[in-house]
Amino acid sequence: MSTTQAEKTEARGKDAGGKNADNKDGGIVVCDACPVLCRIRPGKTGACDRYGNVDNALVRMDPFLLARQAAEREAEMVPFLATEGAGAEWDGSLVQGAEAFVTGIGAGTTYPDYKPAPFIVSSKVEGVDMVTVVTEGIFSYCGVKVKIDTDRHLGPEQAAVRCQGEQVGHVTTAEYGSQMLALGGVRHLTGGSKKEGNVTCQMMLDLCNKQAVDLTIDGGAELTIQAGRAPIINGVKEERMRVGCGSATIGIFAQQWIGHVDEVIVVDDHITGVLTEHQAGKFLDMKPSGIRVRGRRSTPGRYFQVAEPGTGWGGTNISDPLSIIDKIDPKTAWPGLRLLMVSTTGEHAAWFELDDDLKPQEAEMPAAVKVVVDRIGENCEPALSSVLFMAGAGGSLRAGATENPVRLTRSVKDALTRVTAGGAKAYVWPGGGITIMVDVLDMPDNAFGYVPTPAIVGPIEFTMPHEVYAELGGHMKSVQSLADVVKTRGAGERIRVTDLKAENPWPLSPLNKLPGKKAGL
Ligand code: SF4
Repeated sequence: MSTTQAEKTEARGKDAGGKNADNKDGGIVVCDACPVLCRIRPGKTGACDRYGNVDNALVRMDPFLLARQAAEREAEMVPFLATEGAGAEWDGSLVQGAEAFVTGIGAGTTYPDYKPAPFIVSSKVEGVDMVTVVTEGIFSYCGVKVKIDTDRHLGPEQAAVRCQGEQVGHVTTAEYGSQMLALGGVRHLTGGSKKEGNVTCQMMLDLCNKQAVDLTIDGGAELTIQAGRAPIINGVKEERMRVGCGSATIGIFAQQWIGHVDEVIVVDDHITGVLTEHQAGKFLDMKPSGIRVRGRRSTPGRYFQVAEPGTGWGGTNISDPLSIIDKIDPKTAWPGLRLLMVSTTGEHAAWFELDDDLKPQEAEMPAAVKVVVDRIGENCEPALSSVLFMAGAGGSLRAGATENPVRLTRSVKDALTRVTAGGAKAYVWPGGGITIMVDVLDMPDNAFGYVPTPAIVGPIEFTMPHEVYAELGGHMKSVQSLADVVKTRGAGERIRVTDLKAENPWPLSPLNKLPGKKAGL
């Protein structure tokens, strides 16, 4: 079996001496960890900065990251660290597989992938022999799904999303209280200009590594997005995610308005609610107000398209709430009628009373009504941006795990093999292939890299019982213990440890099923 230059030099560790077999031209080493095949001079790194020439050996420059269970650290069961805290250096002491999980971060890449993955690690957990196949996948087919908690209209569906002027994605279907962007993907990486591909790659890399990215939407907003942070829309930090649509807001708070109002209109770009017409108002025996809003009536008290989308009240383009009132029926309305108009976040609210001509006149909002408006705001969650990395573990990457890649796919689908990304739980999409989606906030910091093909490099690990790995035709001769991995990679700064985020299940927990029987991960 042949090995790549990257494998050969990684196997030597940092202190590997001597010249590489491919070392010519004054100590230049050729990196074959990706198709770019960088020729790296002594003391320099390749185009992606992931590999470098250290003492005439090709070395994966970033530390190899091990994750451990935070609970075990607190219990001080296995004091295997010289220092405490995330990112601490490995002190070189041996650990058992049950306490440390080998992530793909810093593991390196084998290219082309018909060879075994960089590390295939054995461990014994609760009496079960487990194997974890560890690699850094080069993902040409990958994208980022961004959920932005806001009612504000960011741009029309399908509108181009741009970074540095290049199209890097588009606006996709809005979800409940959130606008959604689909960014990256193979078409922008490979199907446009070189600049489009490079900007797309850098944008994805920054978002996945939890950095802030500036985006513009054709015909829409300017955004600054960062995972786990409030979105900044047209220079204004978004504060609240709405409590619900206009109809839901009516339903939630109807009871609390009784006796204090004669009508409530909750302005929403999607479904504006009108209390006295709404089922909630009817149940509470509210008298019709005769106030009719613009737009298309869907069902009683629920109106679509009361205005154009925008960044005003309730995600509409209005700044004057009265502009959505179509008419006030003089046979039904009465002088003194008390009208509350409010948005779905409570951010906008106004109080009106009808004068003798049945014209709404703005007045000071009664304290009892303000309490409920404030409660709408109180029930809004903080607005955040969420970034989910999505990628396909393709044929070649799977070949690093087994000579018969489809068996790995079946094993994942049968829940015999757990897929993680940097130790974080990954959602595996149904259907063909191994298409995963992972919240980057569940992953360690700076888990991602890139290669200039361009493509994103991300950690991926497959964990399964030893017998399952043997059955699916795994590279059994390449299985090594964690102690051997540590020895191979070298101690000190070459290996770092972090606590697995508490949101993640421990990736080495034995899967709760036996081969041939279906069960959840
Ligand atoms: S881009 Fe990086 S991985 Fe690819 S050959 Fe160059 S140094 Fe190696």
